[in-house]
Amino acid sequence: MKTNTLWVSLILMAGGAMAQGASAKTCALEISSSDGMRYDKTELKVDASCTEVRLTLIHAGKLAASIMGHNWVLAKTADVAAVASDGIKAGAAGEYIAAADKRTIAHTRLIGGGQTTSVTFSTKGLTKGGDYSFFCSFPGHSSLMKGRFFFG
Ligand code: ZN
Repeated sequence: MKTNTLWVSLILMAGGAMAQGASAKTCALEISSSDGMRYDKTELKVDASCTEVRLTLIHAGKLAASIMGHNWVLAKTADVAAVASDGIKAGAAGEYIAAADKRTIAHTRLIGGGQTTSVTFSTKGLTKGGDYSFFCSFPGHSSLMKGRFFFG
């Protein structure tokens, strides 16, 4: 009986250790935007130990989403121009995000002044040291509202 109890304890301990090793590490990022068609950051960094990223976008302005809407879209830098132009085709109803676009790694909702939104995404698809950028896909915004995203 004593031996059986010991084995059960060992199995439980091993299970606990495995669960801990596979546990998610969510890293929080925050970026603010304004009626001046700008983000407050041009660079965002995520450590490679993060399994998930929770990005919060703040719109500190006053203008409505239909006039000065902002979102946060992440893609490979090489894909940004195409993702942005397909986003414009998706229109306001699609919040300027092409549906089921595999080049879009993550994106928030489109928000207006005074609103905040966030998105949580896995870093599984990201390559350490890869060339990534974020931008706002509202028509005409990506030339000013953009930045580099570093993972590594
Ligand atoms: Zn914008």
